[in-house]
Amino acid sequence: MKIGGLQKVSLIEYPGKISAVIFTQGCNFRCPYCHNPELVDPDLYGDCLGEEEIFSFLEKRRGKLEAVTVTGGEPTIQPDLAVFLRRLKGMEYLVKIDSNGSHPDILEELLREKLVDYIAMDVKAPLGKYEKIMGTTVDCNKIKRSIDMILASEIDHEFRTTVPRSLLEEKDLLAIGRLVKNARQYTIQKFVPSKTLNPSFLKETTYSDEEFSVLKKKLEKNIQAVVVK
Ligand code: SF4
Repeated sequence: MKIGGLQKVSLIEYPGKISAVIFTQGCNFRCPYCHNPELVDPDLYGDCLGEEEIFSFLEKRRGKLEAVTVTGGEPTIQPDLAVFLRRLKGMEYLVKIDSNGSHPDILEELLREKLVDYIAMDVKAPLGKYEKIMGTTVDCNKIKRSIDMILASEIDHEFRTTVPRSLLEEKDLLAIGRLVKNARQYTIQKFVPSKTLNPSFLKETTYSDEEFSVLKKKLEKNIQAVVVK
């Protein structure tokens, strides 16, 4: 697996657990506001970390770390993701995966084999606006399939949307809310302009706290928990 980074400990990436975070290198989307350009743009890639180095670290931390979060980039484009996760499960770690939902077949395999304990899926936009925002071809049937599969499963999950003001109107977020109806959690994330794939997005803004609060109330009608971050 191409691993672009390792965060040795995080108290926030896996809800309620102490986890290490593994960042896979490469992504099939090009969200202009992406804050991990070094994992997305091949011109910015750094050297990869070796898998054995990662497993040796995780072996030493058994009993101290409870979980491993695999994020990206987009983990499901790694051809050997399942092999990697099998090894993590063999070490008795809880596993969380972050995904953009573009590869439902891979998610299905991970669910079937019980290789993940928590899935966080980004829903970037209402399905009709995906390609405009991503700047790349997107098979929205696959996005919908991933959402429906996660909702129908027993797995702990959340759906997430980053909110750059110029890209998403309130009606778009309410449309996403309908797509993920009955989800255990929907997280709407304030866009923070720290580092972006498209440098012009450094000037982008997000909604005010008041606007987020109004939106949260509307979304809560159909979703078990709505979190603003
Ligand atoms: S935000 Fe996620 S899906 Fe979008 S380009 Fe970055 S890593 Fe890929």
